[in-house]
Amino acid sequence: MAASATGLVRVEAGRLQSFVAATFAAAGCSAEEAEAVAAGLVDANMTGHDSHGVVRVPRYVDWMRSGDLEPGQTIAVVTDNPAMAVLDGRYGFGATVGRQAVRFGIDKARQFGVAVVALRHAGHLGRIGQWAEMALEAGLVSLHVVNVAQSRLVAPFGGVERRFSTNPIAFGFPVPDGPPVVLDFATSAVAEGKVMVASQGGKPLPEGSLIRPDGQLSTDPATLYGPIEGTSHRDHRLGTGAIRAMGEHKGSGLSLMCELLGGALAGSGTAGPPRDQRFCNGMVSIYMSPGAFGADSAIAAETRAFVDYVRETVPAEAGSPVLLPGDPERLARQDRTAHGVPITVETLGAMIETARAVGLSDNDPRMLRIA
Ligand code: NAD
Repeated sequence: MAASATGLVRVEAGRLQSFVAATFAAAGCSAEEAEAVAAGLVDANMTGHDSHGVVRVPRYVDWMRSGDLEPGQTIAVVTDNPAMAVLDGRYGFGATVGRQAVRFGIDKARQFGVAVVALRHAGHLGRIGQWAEMALEAGLVSLHVVNVAQSRLVAPFGGVERRFSTNPIAFGFPVPDGPPVVLDFATSAVAEGKVMVASQGGKPLPEGSLIRPDGQLSTDPATLYGPIEGTSHRDHRLGTGAIRAMGEHKGSGLSLMCELLGGALAGSGTAGPPRDQRFCNGMVSIYMSPGAFGADSAIAAETRAFVDYVRETVPAEAGSPVLLPGDPERLARQDRTAHGVPITVETLGAMIETARAVGLSDNDPRMLRIA
């Protein structure tokens, strides 16, 4: 695999997934779970969200070793009634317990028209839009509000100290005869993975993404990780600064609500104050069957007309049409299906190092190499 002058290699998605699955199988996952984890990570890359893609492999393996993440888990049902359920992911892989929880919510909403499902103690749930897409495949509208227990990365509006995590929110809404709307973003100015990607030679951070303890704004990943050295794993506890919340006081308020719903209401634990708890995602999801709200045809007609109306907005810049949430991910998927997933040499090196450390042989046909 030859690296370009920009330090990027393009890896075909199937080849990448097979390498990542082999790494997790060697690290102790069942073949089925290893495949699911690899599929989730590579899918994030395919949608353009490299921050939630294979760059996470070394960290997931570290969490397996430390016991923070437990392979082979299934969700435990804490509460279940016709309106809602509380599920415990028992620190299993998000790719596994997340899928089980979303399936639970889908089945419930199909039966009762609507369902609220809280998932606590899930391993990293990755790109949250994937769960909205799973609900969309079942024809459902959904909303997902997520927090990260004991992960302090983001300063609340007006502050310089970390109090929140990057707390994502996602919505999925089906559009008849067209691609669905999938809105999925972190409530921080940037997802932490984007700081990690920037620290490994990837896309630089937008202005004002980070804040230093003296209140100065910064784009230097060292603000979050401390001094950056080679491919060594990034540890956000080593930096003294913080990521800023998106949208000033509004994003900061949304992040607070993610903590209250995902952390307090779901019972997963909030970002702070500091206490001894493993990393996990908490997620409160609402699933809605459009048919329970009115005639499918009327909802479909109104949706179609409105989506077209928005798309027809005169663009601010000639030749750059207004996009809907979900469009950039579809465009990225087309590009990456055709040309492969771009990965920095540094990220690839860290993944190969991890694969070797868990026992994947250099002679294994699934091993990747840097030419
Ligand atoms: P982002 O800033 O790239 O925003 C993505 C959203 O904005 C998508 O819905 C996209 O379709 C939409 N969008 C982008 N450009 C657009 C345009 N020009 N017009 C209209 N819509 C547009 O996303 P982010 O905040 O960097 O988050 C990245 C990923 O990180 C998400 O998938 C999120 O779920 C994930 N995340 C996960 C966790 C976790 O703990 N599991 C934590 C934080 C973030």
